[in-house]
Amino acid sequence: MTNLLDVSGLRLDYGRTMAVKGIDLAVPPGSVVCLIGANGAGKTTTMRGLSGLLRAAGGTVRFEGTDITNAPAHRIARLGIRQVPEGRQVFAEMTVDENLRLGGLQVPNPQEFRNRRERVLARFPRLQERLTQQAGLLSGGEQQMLALGRALMGAPRLLLLDEPSMGLAPLFVEEIFRIIADLKREGTTILLVEQNAQAALEIADYAYVLESGRITLHGPGAQIADDPKVVAAYLGGH
Ligand code: ATP
Repeated sequence: MTNLLDVSGLRLDYGRTMAVKGIDLAVPPGSVVCLIGANGAGKTTTMRGLSGLLRAAGGTVRFEGTDITNAPAHRIARLGIRQVPEGRQVFAEMTVDENLRLGGLQVPNPQEFRNRRERVLARFPRLQERLTQQAGLLSGGEQQMLALGRALMGAPRLLLLDEPSMGLAPLFVEEIFRIIADLKREGTTILLVEQNAQAALEIADYAYVLESGRITLHGPGAQIADDPKVVAAYLGGH
């Protein structure tokens, strides 16, 4: 089966700092692939490279076989790659509904737009209850749901989730992982960056470990979760 996303030798720099030093990774359609690693390993940088927010210094990114290396972010979004950035970044001054509508701006068919909005609101009842509220007044967990809902308005073919559970209360963390599991069951392809390695590896079909800008280990999620080095470094040594 061909991969939805194929990354080969990707290098990403900040000036003279090499943050991502030539990584290979693949995301097959319908799978959840996770990227784990310590602070500063290059996870967010990788996501920003894939969504076109950062120019590649080397290597290639292919989406369904099409070379999208250094394609502009709007083109990458239009192809169906949607990123939920670290820290959520909802438009704080706008209402929940306005944020959602922005996520569906490119949907040409009004009926399709309404259907998607209905589906997102059915998935996130909290957003339905807070539609006219200013997004900046939502709790962190609700903002994460809004950011996810906004991305889902684009009916993504590939969803890039950057630390969706970061800074959230335990109940919201559980809910976020439940939603990711639902999306997986529905066949959504997801690349997930997480510090919560335990939960991420439980849900992931395949995982990559990133250390100082290099992939040091990769394999099926369950295998990576059992690896003694991963247990010691990322799973609290148990
Ligand atoms: P975290 O979990 O802390 O977000 P991360 O794995 O996502 O970590 P990145 O944010 O991708 O790591 O950072 C990778 C490296 O690039 C780090 O050494 C970081 O200091 C550096 N870096 C990140 N952003 C910039 C920037 N805007 N300018 C210069 N260096 C940066």
